[in-house]
Amino acid sequence: MNVTVDGPEIAPALIDSIGAAIEGLQDEIVGSLGEAIRIRSINPSSLGEVYDDLVGAEGDVSRYLAGHYRQIGAEVELLAFEAGRENAVGVMRGTGNGRSLIFNGHIAVVPPGNLEAWSNDPFSGHVAEGRVWGRGAADMKAGVIAQTFAARVLHELGIELNGDLILEAVVGEERGEHKIGTTALIEHGFRADGAVVAEPTSVTGPLGVMPVSSGILGFRLSVPGKTTHAGMRGASFRAGGDGADIGVSAIDKGVYMFGAIRQLEDEWGITKRHPLYPPGFFSMLPGYITGGAGTSTTAAGLADHMDTVYSVWFPPGEEAQDVRDEIDGHIARAAAVDSWLREHPPTVDWHWEWPPGEIDSDHPLCATVLAAHAIGHVGTPMADGGQLGGAPYVAYPAWILKAGIPALLYGPGEPVHAHAADESVGIDELLAAVRTYALTAMSWCGYRAPGAARGAGS
Ligand SMILES: [Zn+2]
Repeated sequence: MNVTVDGPEIAPALIDSIGAAIEGLQDEIVGSLGEAIRIRSINPSSLGEVYDDLVGAEGDVSRYLAGHYRQIGAEVELLAFEAGRENAVGVMRGTGNGRSLIFNGHIAVVPPGNLEAWSNDPFSGHVAEGRVWGRGAADMKAGVIAQTFAARVLHELGIELNGDLILEAVVGEERGEHKIGTTALIEHGFRADGAVVAEPTSVTGPLGVMPVSSGILGFRLSVPGKTTHAGMRGASFRAGGDGADIGVSAIDKGVYMFGAIRQLEDEWGITKRHPLYPPGFFSMLPGYITGGAGTSTTAAGLADHMDTVYSVWFPPGEEAQDVRDEIDGHIARAAAVDSWLREHPPTVDWHWEWPPGEIDSDHPLCATVLAAHAIGHVGTPMADGGQLGGAPYVAYPAWILKAGIPALLYGPGEPVHAHAADESVGIDELLAAVRTYALTAMSWCGYRAPGAARGAGS
């Protein structure tokens, strides 16, 4: 079966030789992932970490990958937009007249967290039970290594791409620092006709193809109260008491606002939908609450403040400002029906934004990756994978799309393992991703197989 997807055909024999080449490189692919994991490239600006202790390790991963890029004849650059934090770029120059493609992945990882929760050293990179283990295995050094080895396989088989293939390993993603990573590289001039970001996409099955990712907004809701002695609580709100003249518990009022926001969140299960997300996915998470009387940590007085930090997950197709306006309006309406909050309205401090990203599921880039997975895994356990889905996280396609470059997500690993203890990735998925990436580059960029006419498979 030859499959044409808005690009040249890839003959089954060529697909087989790509599979054989990956099999031959299996130990090296797995070993390289282990090596990348052993470089402790914790995002240095992670909360609770000491920046100066961590900065530099991302650059070490970049230098490690740059070595791989050089090995396959790529033009290599190490670019730091913040001292000690080099991104690696390797350009496999195409022979001409083909679409260009970016393979993008981040090399920063989140801190290991509670070491007691890990069965092994979080940075062991060891192999067991058919998986590679360690912080960053799934999120997302496996994806970066798979993209690198896809280029290596093409190089070893003498398959020349028509369009440029740009390999990018970027810093800072785990703290949203796209301005020194992905966005900086685009502004530096690394643009292409499409981009595949290798975040882990095995959600409902292996290796989902995700043309959409969620947006997130962060806000802090501050609800005011009025402090008085704890013994005045009854008089502050029971019938016959003096009410707000004496005191008001910010926690009572905060819990009321919590319920109001929860009501809107329930409504979103109906009003905020996207065909590639399960109902109810778009939500408002109250992630952190503080409150009390001044700085007291006792219950000796009525609380004068309650602050709740929310993360709001909203669907592609909606503007961040519209979502902010909707929530601001809802909070104001809820406050207006409470006599205290009407006079002392809660404040909403919007402090964070990451836009959603979306390309149509029938966009040629999406069709290319879907087809590359399908033709690459006929008759294998991965044949059921490669299904369309929505990413349950924010990711770099959003910023790449803002620069006018079509982008989607496809990568090895289950997001449920990301940021968790005992993070790991299946070797089967790692190798399957190498295969899909190689076929994606051939389909998208066009190619010439050894001894064949340009643009067609042998
Ligand atoms: Zn990630």
